Amino acid sequence: HTEENVENLVIGSGYGGAVAALRLTQAGKKVVMLEMGLDWEKEGGKYKPFSNLITPKNNSTWLKKSTQAPMMNIAHFNKKFTGVLDRMDYENIKVYAGRGVGGGSLVNGGMAVQPKKSYFKEIFPNLNVDEFWDNYFPLAKKELQVNEIPEDYYAQTPYYKFARVGESEAHKAGFETVRVPNVYSFDYMKKEEGDEVPKSALAKEVIYGNNHGKQSLEKTYLKKAIQTGLLHINDLHRVDYFQETENGYAVFVDVIDTEGLVVAKKTINCKNLFLNAGSIGTTKLLLTSRYKGKMTNFDASLGNDWGNNGNIMTGRNMVNTLFNRVENETTNTNHTTGTGSKQSTIPVSGIDNWEDKEHSFFAEISPLPMGVEVYTALYLVINKVPTPGTISYDPTVNDIQINWEKKNYKHTVENAKYFIKKMNKANGGTPAGLLWKGAYGPDICYHPLGGAVLGKTTDLYGRVKGYKNLYITDGALVPASIGVNPFLTITAIAEYCIKEIIKNDYSVS
Ligand code: FAD
Repeated sequence: HTEENVENLVIGSGYGGAVAALRLTQAGKKVVMLEMGLDWEKEGGKYKPFSNLITPKNNSTWLKKSTQAPMMNIAHFNKKFTGVLDRMDYENIKVYAGRGVGGGSLVNGGMAVQPKKSYFKEIFPNLNVDEFWDNYFPLAKKELQVNEIPEDYYAQTPYYKFARVGESEAHKAGFETVRVPNVYSFDYMKKEEGDEVPKSALAKEVIYGNNHGKQSLEKTYLKKAIQTGLLHINDLHRVDYFQETENGYAVFVDVIDTEGLVVAKKTINCKNLFLNAGSIGTTKLLLTSRYKGKMTNFDASLGNDWGNNGNIMTGRNMVNTLFNRVENETTNTNHTTGTGSKQSTIPVSGIDNWEDKEHSFFAEISPLPMGVEVYTALYLVINKVPTPGTISYDPTVNDIQINWEKKNYKHTVENAKYFIKKMNKANGGTPAGLLWKGAYGPDICYHPLGGAVLGKTTDLYGRVKGYKNLYITDGALVPASIGVNPFLTITAIAEYCIKEIIKNDYSVS
């Protein structure tokens, strides 16, 4: 057991943690960051390459003996490993998250979507929306290196047939579509197709990590923070809970090995503590600390307003659409539909039905890159969450539970059914029941949000109510749903919070 003292401690290295670390180090502050997953870049990338979707190795999966992805073949391993994609299973919901330095940026699809202004206002009534549109969203996009797929490339590459078919089918059903920016470099992708560079997005890499092409956080925010010389990252450091001390906080840490076994215990004392373990991780740390660390001053809202961003995975079986010609489908020489045997893993288009008040949704047109034509259209539909769930702590198992029942996802399922029915009516096809019972997967969560909400559990800048020098700048701040893929919003909110914290609490302008 060792004890250390530091000034500024950041727990978690996803979007919230990376933004906090960059801005603090740029303000001249030394920062120590703790991450429970691996630093995938260390020792020359010893634990890489990351796995593709078809032949995953044990570095694909966080401490389980088989892969846990929603619709891919299951692979089994001899040994558990601190792999990059975790699935946390709760009673009615399975939450996915990235593990390692870079957090969710290591495993996500890279879609950098700005929410609807009106919905952002509805979700955050006390924030200055124009300030976000003028400053924080553009800043987040710049730092994250967001780019857009060139129209001429999109129009002709076989790797985006699935997206073009998805768009034209949506139009036929009367829906509007949008092209979605991404952090994956489309210059790189074009070179992949030309066989000029090693393939990544075009070689079925994404949820188990991308070996090339994606500008994940270790190449953007975290790289810049490390370059200041003031950031030190400790990987395989899993925080259990923390406690208030005379001068700040004592943080109790398990140091683990790559099989997840605890090899050392540490207490790290800090003055300023930044919780950025993601919606689930941060809420869990707070609730565990309330129980084990006797931190009883938290606001009563802690654990409330949790949601899955209205996520639902759904699909359409297109076999009976085989003889329908899809309009504008230039590469479709044999007049059949289908989504193509070649598919990029990086989604770039969405169906935007947000303005329909009765059925507001945003559907990501998702790839299903199996390497063969599977005649299946896949969508990740994102919805409002009118009845959010809650997170509570169960001391008997030293873990949280997510209280998530039918009432919490009823709206989401209804919207997905409406969407799929309309698509099938216009284009042919049936719900893809082979993939999920009933073809709708409301128990899948890629976008956990909330639990320690801005303006409720914290003040309007992420300062935790009831305590001093205790901050949150991650997805836990966003209540239940933001209506689009969330990391751009999480980054923008983190930028906004940390600016105020550095200016006022650190007196650095
Ligand atoms: P995270 O990025 O989850 O970071 C939290 C970090 O804290 C993690 O690295 C974690 O290992 C660490 N941690 C947790 N607990 C502890 C602890 N106790 N001790 C130490 N460290 C800890 N969003 C989009 O906007 N676009 C997309 O295309 C997209 N696709 C996705 C695809 C998948 C498969 C998944 C899983 C998510 C996707 N998301 C996408 C969601 C997005 O990645 C998350 O919303 C985002 O990463 C959340 O950021 P965060 O900073 O709140 O937390």
